[in-house]
Amino acid sequence: MTQQVLIAGGGIGGLAAALACARAACQVRLYERARAFDEVGAGIQMGPNVVRVLQGWGLQAALQRVAAYPERLQVRHALSGGELGLLRLGPDMAQRYGAPYATVHRADLHQLLRAALQQRDGVRLQAGKTVVACRETSDAVELQLDDGLEVEGDALIGADGLWSRVRTQLLNDGPPRVAGHLAYRALLPQASLPAALRSQQVTAWLGPRLHVVQYPVRGGEWLNVVAIVHGHVQGGLEDWDHGANAADLRAVLGQTCSDLRALIEAVPDWRLWVLCDRPPVAAAEQMARGRVALLGDAAHPMRPYLAQGAGMAIEDAAELARQLAQADGVLDVPTLLQRYALNRWQRCARVQARAIRNGEIFHLEGPMAWARDASLRLLGERLLDVPWLYRGA
Ligand SMILES: Cc1cc2nc3c(=O)[nH]c(=O)nc-3n(C[C@H](O)[C@H](O)[C@H](O)COP(=O)(O)OP(=O)(O)OC[C@H]3O[C@@H](n4cnc5c(N)ncnc54)[C@H](O)[C@@H]3O)c2cc1C
Repeated sequence: MTQQVLIAGGGIGGLAAALACARAACQVRLYERARAFDEVGAGIQMGPNVVRVLQGWGLQAALQRVAAYPERLQVRHALSGGELGLLRLGPDMAQRYGAPYATVHRADLHQLLRAALQQRDGVRLQAGKTVVACRETSDAVELQLDDGLEVEGDALIGADGLWSRVRTQLLNDGPPRVAGHLAYRALLPQASLPAALRSQQVTAWLGPRLHVVQYPVRGGEWLNVVAIVHGHVQGGLEDWDHGANAADLRAVLGQTCSDLRALIEAVPDWRLWVLCDRPPVAAAEQMARGRVALLGDAAHPMRPYLAQGAGMAIEDAAELARQLAQADGVLDVPTLLQRYALNRWQRCARVQARAIRNGEIFHLEGPMAWARDASLRLLGERLLDVPWLYRGA
């Protein structure tokens, strides 16, 4: 039986859901609020659990054209510059988990998903359409758009991000919480940097109340830099991409080692994000009710300290489509969405909780930081590898 799937939101999660559902022979209509399908200029790390899903969708070659595959993750102390630990990525990780660790520009991943969708029948992507409300009837779900149009389908996927309208209608559980952390992000061509600052590995710098992560994207030709510090800004949280004052960041990182300061000073432009999340998902009912399911940040917005927010959205999409593919006269859509939620919520909650904990560990001060550093030096890879995550759902 062909299912009519409606999707609110055309970010990485929404597009991944559209592709997975189209591959499961569903008819898909996706509505994106922005006037054009686009993504912000920032990087994304993808563990083998995520790359494996993309490979399963036939995207291996397309990914290879745009991604970088760093050989290792190096953890360094932000103040001394000394190495704290190493995790081998590259072929080693591919061998361990059946897929490599990749880093990619968000726009490239977004574009790659859109290109794959263009190859499929039964998919309609519409930009400039804001979902304003949804309503369930006895045998369908109705979506209302800001232009007054109403559309009907068998299932609605809320992939409309952190400030999800669909979530508000489904759960009415208030806005996300402000983490108290700010993310300064930058992307720049490696060629624009002095040779000593160019890098083809993932480097995480840990310091008191801050950390910085850098990695290559676009086949290694560009460098992505993210600096996380404690703080708050004025202004609307929903427009999450703010211009940043580089002097503020340089002041906060003023005591860090010369290698790190040199990198920060070499970046000409920063964008600023106010980080928000929600407590870990507490029950399957928070991810699906009736004919409506939530996916990605709409379902489980998380702090970026395990680098898995988009990854979980992609895993959600795969599981959702796996369930919808089983729709027949016996298994109806609400049952299948319930199964999707049951199969996803605990893993997503675990990733959310681990991301919070990582942030606390990354930003430790005083004797606790000393203990962290000693453990990392002693155990290195055993602490940095995350087998339960990278093996996949
Ligand atoms: C600093 C930082 C670093 C990160 N690093 C990583 C990383 O390395 N790896 C990783 O996996 N994740 C990372 N993430 C997390 C990742 O960016 C998000 O988890 C992911 O983008 C969520 O995708 P989404 O499609 O669910 O939501 P979004 O990307 O927010 O997409 C939602 C879409 O819905 C649209 N929309 C909203 N409301 C409506 C409406 N009413 N009607 C129609 N459309 C609507 C929006 O315009 C948007 O296009 C990071 C996040 C941050 C902040």
